[in-house]
Amino acid sequence: MFGTNAQGGQPALPMQGVAQPGRDEVLHLPRVHISKHPVLTHKMTKLRDKSTPSPEFYRLVKEIGALLAYEATASLALEACTVETPLEVTTGYQLAGGIGVTPILRAGLGLAEAFREVIPDVQIWHLGLRRDEQTLQALEYYNRLPHQVNLQVCYAVDPMLATGGSAIDAINILKRRNIPRLSYVGIIAAPYGLLKLTQTHPDIDIYIAALDDSLNDYGYIVPGLGDAGDRQFGTF
Ligand code: URA
Repeated sequence: MFGTNAQGGQPALPMQGVAQPGRDEVLHLPRVHISKHPVLTHKMTKLRDKSTPSPEFYRLVKEIGALLAYEATASLALEACTVETPLEVTTGYQLAGGIGVTPILRAGLGLAEAFREVIPDVQIWHLGLRRDEQTLQALEYYNRLPHQVNLQVCYAVDPMLATGGSAIDAINILKRRNIPRLSYVGIIAAPYGLLKLTQTHPDIDIYIAALDDSLNDYGYIVPGLGDAGDRQFGTF
């Protein structure tokens, strides 16, 4: 349950008075990859802009997601195969094992679509985690994860790594599927959520486009971009 303030018993805001690490404390965490791609940085400015309309915002999420997918898949395993060109048979390489993407609903849908554009045969495993606005706890309300899996990696995708609650829960759920490798891909992280995620799951890689300053009292990332779900889907 959320707390009360000292004065009048009014409900306290969820992040009010909560100590948060600074950017410097999380900048060089192992297995955290913060993109330095200039095209991505350029697109981030447009994404943050409050006057960017929803259709353009969604398009930008997909473009940024595609660049992040490109970076996050750079070390995937390949296996040799034969391929017949018009001239001769030669050795080719194909991805060894399937690739899963778990969008945390609903804000993760744009990033999942981006992965699908980069690798059309990814499996999309939807996971509905809702944030209780008062306690900031993640609550599971939808789960379409298959039981039979043959993946080499699964990416949990959600644009905003704020308190880390949903990301931690999503990775917990994915770990029960015994996938050899798990990663998290997001657009903006707050130091608080990033630290929590790395402390709880030090064995996963984390790919983000930007590391912001902090969370405000309501648990929103600042400077951030507002509510990533509302901005993608025009629900204000
Ligand atoms: N979720 C969002 O959409 N935005 C934030 O700033 C934090 C969580």
